[in-house]
Amino acid sequence: MEQPRYRGRFAPSPTGPLHFGSLVTALASWLEARTAGGDWLVRIEDLDPLREPPEATGQILHSLDCHGLFPDEPVRFQSRRHDAYQAAIGQLLARHQAYRCRCSRKLLQKHGGYHPDHCRDGHPAPGDTPYAIRFALTDELSHWQDLLLGDQQQKVAAELDDPVLLRKEGFYAYQLAVVVDDIDQNISHVVRGSDLLDMTAQQQQIFRALGAQPPQWLHIPVIVNDQGQKLSKQTHAPALDDQQPAANLVNALAALGQQPPSALLNATVDDVLAWGRENWRRHAIPLTSRQAHGINPDTH
Ligand code: GLU
Repeated sequence: MEQPRYRGRFAPSPTGPLHFGSLVTALASWLEARTAGGDWLVRIEDLDPLREPPEATGQILHSLDCHGLFPDEPVRFQSRRHDAYQAAIGQLLARHQAYRCRCSRKLLQKHGGYHPDHCRDGHPAPGDTPYAIRFALTDELSHWQDLLLGDQQQKVAAELDDPVLLRKEGFYAYQLAVVVDDIDQNISHVVRGSDLLDMTAQQQQIFRALGAQPPQWLHIPVIVNDQGQKLSKQTHAPALDDQQPAANLVNALAALGQQPPSALLNATVDDVLAWGRENWRRHAIPLTSRQAHGINPDTH
């Protein structure tokens, strides 16, 4: 059978500017796509305006440009894709693969994760309380192969784990939008941080419910700070310095277990990226999270 064309993507949520951890993910997905001779796309997952400073998207796109990471197609914005998410929800509701749920987190906790109003049976408690829409998972022990981590087994518990697709506040949720867009953009390979590993088996079920084959996944270790916390806006990860893109890329290659020569620190962005493509070894990527100890001379 002919393999579908390799199509990868970097899909940041614009909660702040690009930091070193997100550069590592962007670079790994870019290198995987380039060495496979495939396409590399950028998708801004701007689903939650309350968590997204308005300037963050522009900062992220500017940083990617400075680091020579140019997508092959126009950038996609999830904030412009609400019709597609609504259509997917309509399809899932019609097939009873999604349901309306008024339960609060507290109520669910009180009932050990079960929905006291039997929302899955289509009987959410009447009333004016706004409802969320959840995906109805099927009990499953999912087996799949991660391209870096190898054999994976994940348990999916129907009802207890049912993910929200549309939040009570009216925002579409990540679990829905990521799958709808990966399908629509024909993404064949997803490279992302291992903090999202646990989401994968649920996403596989959503792919299938929407009539699509899931992509292949490669989860890279997350970059952590001195306290062992994932670099993120919440842990106050500093923004990347766009004035030293070559050094940032060399450090990102080192964090991915590659061994870039220190002479590259003085090279151009294009030269660093070319070195990365020529020398990319997926199996040198470390399997566990690590601190950002680069070979940036500024840090020595
Ligand atoms: N938007 C997600 C994030 O920034 C990543 C989604 C994905 O790669 O599946 O964490």
